[in-house]
Amino acid sequence: MTISRTGRCEWCGGEFALSQGPGRPSRYCRRSHRQRAYEARRLAGERGISSEEVLISRRTWERLRDALYRLEAASEDVAMDLMSGRPTKAEYVEALGHLSAAVRDLQDVAVEPIAVSDV
Ligand SMILES: [Zn+2]
Repeated sequence: MTISRTGRCEWCGGEFALSQGPGRPSRYCRRSHRQRAYEARRLAGERGISSEEVLISRRTWERLRDALYRLEAASEDVAMDLMSGRPTKAEYVEALGHLSAAVRDLQDVAVEPIAVSDV
């Protein structure tokens, strides 16, 4: 019986199957992620980025900030809607849909560092 082991990619966080062969297990799900991690570490060294810091693009930061704001606003809207009176099942479904849309919005933001020292 073969027990398949999985690892988490240190670049994207995705799960992947570890190869069964000898040697050190891979830390990345694909070669391109190993390469990006290498480049991010190299740039972190060049720019003096500490292990407590991560450099991301302004565009990524703005998209992440805006998506988090929309999620927070949706959460507050849903809480207000559901706490007033006795919500019906349809109102719960609508609230869940509203919240799910905000979560999907956040999931669509690809956060990839430009420079980070520990990847
Ligand atoms: Zn990966």
